[in-house]
Amino acid sequence: TAQFDIQRIRQQFPALAQECNGQPLVYLDSAATTQKPLEVIETIRQYYSGHNANVHRGSHTLTATATAQFEQARETVQRFINAADSKEIIWTRGATEALNLIAQTYARNSLKAGDEILVSELEHHANIVPWQIVAEQTGAKVVKIPMRSDCTLDMDAFTQRLTPNTKIVAIAHVTNVTGTRNPVETMIKAAHDIGAIAVIDGAQAVAHECVDVQALDADFYVFSGHKIFAPAGIGALYGKKALLEAMPPWHGGGKMVEKVSFDGTTFSALPGKFEAGTPNVAGSLAMAAAINWLGNIDREGAEHHIQTLRQRAIDGIQDIEDLRIIGLQPDASLFSFVVDGVHHQDIATLLDQQGIALRAGHHCAHPMMDALNVGGTLRVSIALYNTQQDIDQFIAALHKACSLL
Ligand code: PMP
Repeated sequence: TAQFDIQRIRQQFPALAQECNGQPLVYLDSAATTQKPLEVIETIRQYYSGHNANVHRGSHTLTATATAQFEQARETVQRFINAADSKEIIWTRGATEALNLIAQTYARNSLKAGDEILVSELEHHANIVPWQIVAEQTGAKVVKIPMRSDCTLDMDAFTQRLTPNTKIVAIAHVTNVTGTRNPVETMIKAAHDIGAIAVIDGAQAVAHECVDVQALDADFYVFSGHKIFAPAGIGALYGKKALLEAMPPWHGGGKMVEKVSFDGTTFSALPGKFEAGTPNVAGSLAMAAAINWLGNIDREGAEHHIQTLRQRAIDGIQDIEDLRIIGLQPDASLFSFVVDGVHHQDIATLLDQQGIALRAGHHCAHPMMDALNVGGTLRVSIALYNTQQDIDQFIAALHKACSLL
């Protein structure tokens, strides 16, 4: 891998070169979605300018090429998270759709009244609501793993609430509000010890660490392309083959069937069984392009760069009156803060006027906001393409905003 070189990286992101409200754009919202490198943009352009065709259908040359590339892209995702077999990778629209798929196939068919789904208080709504829906459908119960005041999970409570009734443990690998890295290795093992399965939401993890689903022994692992430099509308579900094979399909339609007749229908083998309808081929190819692009980056160097910038940002804003950083986590790529007495949205608006893009609000994590007793936070999330100038512009802009409010 090449040496980490911020200028070379930055040149590959055209969106970062723009001005916003008369200032250079400072993009500090990469945990919401990352900007896209030229290689990803070019992959989409090439696909639609050249070999656009439907996949797994028909016999002409374009469809054969598109199908081969589409399946190669699946193998790229397989290698990215070290799955044992590319059939264990199901394309989805993103993490949200993948979690709903697990809830409506695996969970809906295996849960019964009295069963429990353990879900952490730190979760994004995408890893709470699908479980509530399936609990309603099956009579199962969603049980909370509470967090401690430092925004890490209360592992004593986890151990206590993990009982023979627990059938599913659903947790984020890394959370989106504070970047808390949950001890998923321990939790997966504990879940298996009592016969439950573990569903890991990797949406915030995959951009920042090398994930190995086999080493984790995760039963399911999900993530979205758009947070790892790929477009929105594409993501992946990893599931252990035996689980996926035993699960009924979710959506019905073309490609997920072996034979349809009015006497009954037989379903395709993996992965087709879970991929009804025409898939997002360009998205899959672009996701593979993003993963390959990331594969050529010195990722350790990138994380070191991100840590240096994050520390610079924190040091630069500490002197602001009534500013509190919420649950600061070691080695996270992001941090959340509030300024007591000032509404987060007012700060965000004044920052936006100075070219600073960051996230203000509840971050789709109402239970965590309630536990913190805040209506929302401001979140600075840093990616490998951010620079020291970005951080200095942010520090100056925040001082100015707070002096005006
Ligand atoms: N989980 C986490 C931890 C997230 O940060 C997000 C995106 N904010 C999601 C799930 C949902 O991802 P998507 O909206 O791409 O499906």
